[in-house]
Amino acid sequence: MRVLITGGAGFLGSHLCDRFLAEGHSVIAMDNLITGNTDNIAHLAGNPNFKFIRHDVTEYIYIEGELDAILHFASPASPIDYLELPIQTMKVGALGTHKALGLAKAKGARFLLASTSEAYGDPLVHPQTEDYWGNVNPIGPRGVYDEAKRFAEALTMAYHRYHGVDTRIVRIFNTYGPRMRLRDGRVVPNFISQALIGKPLTVYGDGSQTRSFCYVSDLVEGIYRLLHSDEHEPTNIGNPTEMTILQFAQAVVNITGSTSEIALVQPEDERIKDDPKVRRPDIGKARRILGWEPKLSLEEGLQKTIPDFARRLGLK
Ligand code: UDP
Repeated sequence: MRVLITGGAGFLGSHLCDRFLAEGHSVIAMDNLITGNTDNIAHLAGNPNFKFIRHDVTEYIYIEGELDAILHFASPASPIDYLELPIQTMKVGALGTHKALGLAKAKGARFLLASTSEAYGDPLVHPQTEDYWGNVNPIGPRGVYDEAKRFAEALTMAYHRYHGVDTRIVRIFNTYGPRMRLRDGRVVPNFISQALIGKPLTVYGDGSQTRSFCYVSDLVEGIYRLLHSDEHEPTNIGNPTEMTILQFAQAVVNITGSTSEIALVQPEDERIKDDPKVRRPDIGKARRILGWEPKLSLEEGLQKTIPDFARRLGLK
């Protein structure tokens, strides 16, 4: 296959590039580098099956030749990014998805949308099943991401139903691993960095909010299988092992062997407004239709992640 990955220099995008190349496919990574980084794909330079194009996908996309699949992963993806880049977040989810779908239609390519557990907002159904419509505040700080992704899902289904584009939608739950931006503000980079440099781990609020963390190789496997399935409706991919943020902080301290304290803090900006109180995927559908479930425990995943952070923090 010849595959275009938008957001290909980002955390998930770059791991997808690696996976598709490893399977013998040819990959074009596209990124405008506002949150992506060419360091994530530097190891692919010189690979004859790989090409990087610096481009903003909200502008018309021109690709020469055939394309078999488009994976649309371009987007800011951290709550502090939404505060700093609210318009870009909305534009890439809306206009960028439109451009990528238009390209898929023109090339007769399969299209996979990276959607999100944020489509469920601060969920009133727990764990979240794909048939839950969600509880999103459209005008809150996260609304720019949540609503853009919900629009992107609607547009993807419209292109599928009206134009017959062969589409897939993955709803991605919290994922972590090497190459996450050190300062993207999300809980995994924050806690690992804080633990490694001996600073207090900043638990927001009372730390009773829950998340479920999936290691990146498990996520990539689920996405790879979904692309090769014939399922058009949204499918959750994530790890169903749920824990409080306080428990997660303790796990990071234990696994890094850190001397850091765990501090409860109240950020002054809007970053924890509308913070979902619980989040855990119901992966029954992925198990059933893809035969997929995550393989790595949190401890195994953190062990694979920590050395990459230590290196980039200049500690090893
Ligand atoms: N969080 C925290 N301390 C941090 C960063 C995040 O306690 O330094 C909390 C945040 O309030 C949320 C959870 O960790 O409840 C996950 O936040 P993240 O930004 O990783 O992504 P989200 O799952 O909210 O999209």
